[in-house]
Amino acid sequence: MNLPAERPIPAPPTDPHSETLPPPAEEAPPETPDALPPGSRVGEYVIDGPIGQGAFGAVYAATHPVIDKPAAVKVLAWRYSADPEMVTRFIDEARAVNQIQHPNIIDIFNFGRLPDGRRYHVMERLIGEPLDALLAREGKLSPDAAMALLRPIAAAVKAAHEVGVIHRDIKPANVFVCEDGKVKLLDFGVAKLIHRRSAHRSATGVAVGTPAYMAPEQCLGEKVDPTVDVYALGVLAFRLMAGRLPFEGDSSFEAMSAHVNDPVPALHRLESRIPPQASTAIRAMMAKHAGERPQCPVEAVEALCDALSCRQGQRRWPWIAAGVSLIAVGSAWVLWPAAPVEIAATAPIEAMGAPTEAAPTEAAPTEAAPTEAAPTEVAPTEAAPAEPDPEAPAEIAAPAPPPEITLTLTELPPRAEVTWEDVSLPIGAGDTVRLPRDQGPVELVISAPGYKARRIEVSPEADGALNAHLQRLSRRQRRGRSGAEPRKEVKANPHSIDDW
Ligand code: ATP
Repeated sequence: MNLPAERPIPAPPTDPHSETLPPPAEEAPPETPDALPPGSRVGEYVIDGPIGQGAFGAVYAATHPVIDKPAAVKVLAWRYSADPEMVTRFIDEARAVNQIQHPNIIDIFNFGRLPDGRRYHVMERLIGEPLDALLAREGKLSPDAAMALLRPIAAAVKAAHEVGVIHRDIKPANVFVCEDGKVKLLDFGVAKLIHRRSAHRSATGVAVGTPAYMAPEQCLGEKVDPTVDVYALGVLAFRLMAGRLPFEGDSSFEAMSAHVNDPVPALHRLESRIPPQASTAIRAMMAKHAGERPQCPVEAVEALCDALSCRQGQRRWPWIAAGVSLIAVGSAWVLWPAAPVEIAATAPIEAMGAPTEAAPTEAAPTEAAPTEAAPTEVAPTEAAPAEPDPEAPAEIAAPAPPPEITLTLTELPPRAEVTWEDVSLPIGAGDTVRLPRDQGPVELVISAPGYKARRIEVSPEADGALNAHLQRLSRRQRRGRSGAEPRKEVKANPHSIDDW
């Protein structure tokens, strides 16, 4: 079941973990209807009609009656307008946005109070749709389309970080895809102003954000740094390309627990057009420890972009340029055709381990044999040493060694991974790894939680079985490694989730 977590969990009005509690019920003025009818005046603007309803208030289309400037007005729900902390946060949102001033961040240009006491701000009106609506329709996006969204979002997040603002709630509902192709990051309502001590006083122990996109330290209510946004960008990248969240669960609690404890699923295993390098880039963004994540959102997203272009052969895989990309099938690495037309012209597919397409190409050398024999037939001028024996194909078809080294790994511990260059893949005992033969010795790293990682140099002649036995770490060593850390408990109390 999907976590309903692309929406934030409304902060309970009497959140026991909040430092500032809302006013006692008897002091609260009576509820008033929230809706503003068309024609209502909000500051200098006149309401045209509703756009949408969020957890904390409503958004309206409005127009300046004199200069015809379109705008959107966000009105904080009446009950939250009576809460000093909510009001502070609403003001801080406008302040944060104005500090950043970035083309990919919504512009908020006015702020005020309705006669009934409700707070509002006036912002640029966007025409298009929020990314969650787009995803509800499309399911998932191609890597190119995903990158076209992630790049501007990362630029916006970087600009925010540069002025000391952490967004803390990056998710599809807070990304707006405009009709003209622009992408805007919205909703700095839970943003944290790093240098303002009073801002967004979420007490330690209070989880802030949207569970499906929250970094482990956010889930645990610990101190956060800007890399929580890098983590959320990693989740978003995964969600965009996989069509599902990396951690789903029946409850927010389950999702948060998974963020804290579970390994990030390998995206390329869910989506065949994604190369394994992209899984590695997303895993780096979603590292459990803040210090292990890329610190800059733009660099993180560019690394992902580079990884995705690996299939076009822009990096270090020589055969990718020939139309072949490396992917995992089952738990083995094989080379698989990315562009069948090119492959036919480059290398025998059989040697690349592609089971189905192998047959026609396998036959190719046999078909080629007569052609290779032809020179002997057309140029018998030299003192022909001996009659060419048409029955002796061995002379003309001495098989070249396959272009890959094929290794079968044995004695692997549970949850082992094999890493070659910057690509890591899970591997089990008896699985086959195929490596390039023409690159000289290749270095593999075999690792598994609780075991000492081992580097193995594989020579170009090394086909066959490879004993990948790993040495177990001592208990003390295991305690110091993330793979062997005891499972951390996320507080089950939903009141600890404060999504402002
Ligand atoms: P949350 O309660 O977490 O903020 P939300 O993002 O759905 O959830 P709002 O930010 O209040 O809530 O937005 C309500 C609706 O208005 C959303 O569909 C949003 O895309 C839309 N919206 C918000 N700001 C604008 C804007 N400046 N221009 C056009 N539509 C907007």
